Order: sequence, then C-alpha cells, then structure tokens
Amino acid sequence: MRIGIPGEIRQGETRVAATPETIRKLTQGGRHIVLVESRAGLASSILDSDFEAAGAVLVAAGADVYAQADIVLKVRGPEPTELPLLRRGSALIGLLNPHDQTAVDALAKAGVTAFALESVPRTTRAQTMDVLSSQANIAGYKAVLLAANAYGRFMPMLMTAAGTVRAARVLVLGAGVAGLQAIATAKRLGAVIEAFDVRPAAKEQVESLGAKFVEVPVSDEERAKAETAGGYARDMGDDYKRRQAALIDERARASDIVITTALVPGRPAPVLLPEATVRGMKPGSVIVDLAAQQGGNCALTVQDASTVAHGIVIIGHTNLPALVAADASALYARNILSFLNLLLDPAGGEIRIDRADEIISATLVCTEGASVRRQEMSPA
Ligand code: NAD
Repeated sequence: MRIGIPGEIRQGETRVAATPETIRKLTQGGRHIVLVESRAGLASSILDSDFEAAGAVLVAAGADVYAQADIVLKVRGPEPTELPLLRRGSALIGLLNPHDQTAVDALAKAGVTAFALESVPRTTRAQTMDVLSSQANIAGYKAVLLAANAYGRFMPMLMTAAGTVRAARVLVLGAGVAGLQAIATAKRLGAVIEAFDVRPAAKEQVESLGAKFVEVPVSDEERAKAETAGGYARDMGDDYKRRQAALIDERARASDIVITTALVPGRPAPVLLPEATVRGMKPGSVIVDLAAQQGGNCALTVQDASTVAHGIVIIGHTNLPALVAADASALYARNILSFLNLLLDPAGGEIRIDRADEIISATLVCTEGASVRRQEMSPA
C-alpha cells in the first residue's frame, strides 16, 4: 500500500501522524511505500532527512501525497481546502471529529473510507490505539505547567530565611486521563491538590495520586447512573448539579489554580465555573480550561486565548498536546501504527474492513460514499 502523510495545515497544529520510528516499521521489507510531505515533521522536531533515513519518500507538495496515497494518515480532520484533495476510494485515518455529522458527511461525499480515532473503544485490547488517552495525558501535564507559569506565586511550600511560602492549592475538575495527569504533575511541583469527578470510580485513582477527592453526597441511584458501561461520564440530574455547583464554588474559592477537564462525549462541556464562582476566587488565581474546545467548563473561557477576568487568569488553549509536539507526535504515531496493524491484512497488507471487529466498527465513520451511523458512545 502507499501510505501518505501530508503536513498538518490547521492553525497551531504542530503534530505529525508518523515518525521515523513508525515509518521504519511500515516500510520494513518493502511492505508499504510511505510518502511524506516535505517539512511535515519540522514543528515536531523531525527533519526531512530523518524521514528519508527511515525509508520514507519525500514529496514536495501535500496535494501530491493525497493524489498518490491509498491511505492518508492525519492528525486533524481535513480543512475545507484539503477536502478536494482527498482521492475517491482512498482511506483516511485521524482525529476526524466523529460527533460532527457535517464533517462526516463531507468525508462521505469526498468518497473516502474514513476512520475516526477518537472512537477507539476504551478497552484493554484497544489501549495501544487510544489517541484520546495518549493526547489527554499530555494535555493534563502541560495544563499544570501553563498554570504554574501564569501563577505569580510558588507551587511548593518553601521555608526560606526570608520566611515561609505556602504551597499552592490546586483544584482539578474531572479526573479522567487528563485530570489524573494534572494531579500527578501538580504533585511533582509540590502543590496541595483536590479533585472532583462525577464518576465515583475516580475517587480511588485520585487518592492513589495523593490528592483529596471532593465528594458530592449521592444517592445509590445516582451512583449507579454516573458512569456508562464504557466508563464515560453521564449527564447528571438537576438536583445533583445544584449540590455539585455549591461544592465546586466553595472549593474553587479556596484554590489558587483550577484545572478543568470535564467532558461528556458528544455534548457541550458542562459549565462548572460560572461567572459568580470566578468572581469569588482570589486575585491572581489561574484557571486552565481543557474543555475549551467543547465550549469550556468555565463560563468566561475564551477559546485559544489567555484572558483576565475579575483578576483571574483564564487559559482556554484548545490544543495543548501541540505544545509538546515531539512527544505528542511520537505517541500519536504509535497509536496509528497499532491501528494499522489491525486494519491491514498481515499477509498482503491491504485494508480489511472487518465490521465484526469492535474497534474497526466503532471507528469507521464513512465508506463507499455514505456515512456509517454508529451507536453513541454515551447513551443518554
Ligand atoms: P473524558 O475526557 O470524556 O472526561 C474527562 C473527565 O470528566 C471524566 O473523568 C468524566 O467523568 C469527567 N466529567 C464529566 N462530566 C463531569 C462533571 N459534570 N463534573 C466533573 N467531572 C465530570 O474522560 P477520559 O479521560 O477520556 O476517560 C473516560 C473514561 O475512560 C474513564 O473512565 C477512564 O478511566 C476510561 N479509560 C479507560 C481506558 C482503558 O481501559 N483502556 C483508557 C482510557 C480511559
């Protein structure tokens, strides 16, 4: 197969979908031909010569990669200017935004067979292909570094000749992959951490990282309903939300840094920090909103901007993994390679769409000109 890697053109996207390590494996023994757009790896610190040394063929123009490839590997879904470049009958693999039906319909219309990696099931078998985990882990780490940078005080407690400096108090809202990494990173910097999640299962994980779990009192019925079979959060009832809001408001006012990561797949992010809560926080506090892409967990978040409201710095960067480009690309490229190992026939190397395979059927968004209706990841 001819596997193509065009450069990413979305504003601020620094990642690339293949690295010399993964290309070496794909080209081993002449199994596949890998075409890489010249300069596609520069923002991830990968030189053209590194790609060539790994066995890739460099192509000057991205359009030629699309024209020649049987399979295109991307980080982000195509921009409007890329859609016409897609070759009918080719396959496309990347972060294709599967909940956006307009985006999926555009891919179907372009005649490609497309696989959205966001929909890889969160199962042990699929772990090596789990791009949401590999990238959320990076986002959680970087969020804490951005917060520490914007915060005008120390993170750790210090005892100096000039007196004692108290440790920063960090509140993490949403203790999934990103939230847990944010806790671990803030812990390494010496902060005192509290975390909250609607999934009761998160409590043990939060505590094992040395943070305190902030608990909303729940009934047995609410506890049973908080998590889907797939491990995602469910949208909770109004009464629970009122109790949750009061508790978060109290804990946010006592914090110096709030990292928010709360998401419900396919839905707008829940607003956990309304303006009244932000107004009640201490001046100089910092909020990093990892849910900015889905509308934000803070009502005052501005997408892709760092703003100040009521004396609080609010960071709404929507692509934190792109700020750790080299490692983000390395992990993403391994996720894609693992997915290809499943998708491609081990003997002949051609694509096999085995719809009985739960990973293939979950990720397939369109083929033969039509979009594939999938079951929602998060049933209401
Ligand atoms: P996510 O990005 O969808 O959401 C982030 C976190 O926000 C989740 O922990 C969620 O419970 C929480 N959240 C949602 N609404 C909230 C609210 N109103 N208030 C507070 N918190 C709220 O989650 P994720 O990090 O992608 O992880 C989703 C699930 O998948 C988790 O259960 C995780 O443990 C599981 N997971 C499993 C595997 C595996 O088994 N291979 C791999 C990765 C993740």
